[in-house]
Amino acid sequence: MSAPFSPSRRALLFGRSEAAPAPRPFRPPWARPEPEFTAACTRCDACIRQCPQHVLVRGADGLPRFDPRAGECTFCGNCVSACTQGAFDRSRDPPWSLLAQVADTCLSALSIVCTSCRETCPTSAIRIPPAARGAASVDASRCTGCGACVSVCPVDAISLHHAEIPEVVA
Ligand code: SF4
Ligand code: SF4
Ligand code: SF4
Repeated sequence: MSAPFSPSRRALLFGRSEAAPAPRPFRPPWARPEPEFTAACTRCDACIRQCPQHVLVRGADGLPRFDPRAGECTFCGNCVSACTQGAFDRSRDPPWSLLAQVADTCLSALSIVCTSCRETCPTSAIRIPPAARGAASVDASRCTGCGACVSVCPVDAISLHHAEIPEVVA
């Protein structure tokens, strides 16, 4: 009996990659929409160097990315001021579409008391049920996507995501 004609086998035979599109990167706050940002940015690293929180990193594409595992964006605006190429738009409000989300690996969902994320959140956007009777939750109306809660979670249960429909990156 012949092997099933799987998508991966089809890709091998016809030389096409069927890998999922790359996730949309987290750009710095106030970055212009992805096509405009990538066209304007000269990969000079000026914004990365001026970030006092050290939360901007150079990605594999040479462009700056926000890494919430490195800490919190305080929305100081230094990255915007550092850019001389027009890659940012200070009038964007909010400055990006990032929101925090909590996975079901949250310790509080397992009846283990933990309040690290709630104590760290500068906008009081995180709720944790009393006596660890359920997972932490994020109030999207208060969350700024600053990332402060991400690195403090002892079980990496918090991540950021783009709130609107993802912009696919080719
Ligand atoms: S706004 Fe400030 S803290 Fe946030 S990425 Fe830009 S320079 Fe860093
Ligand atoms: S820090 Fe992590 S484990 Fe602790 S309550 Fe928040 S999401 Fe849950
Ligand atoms: S991303 Fe920032 S504002 Fe949002 S829940 Fe985490 S700490 Fe609070």
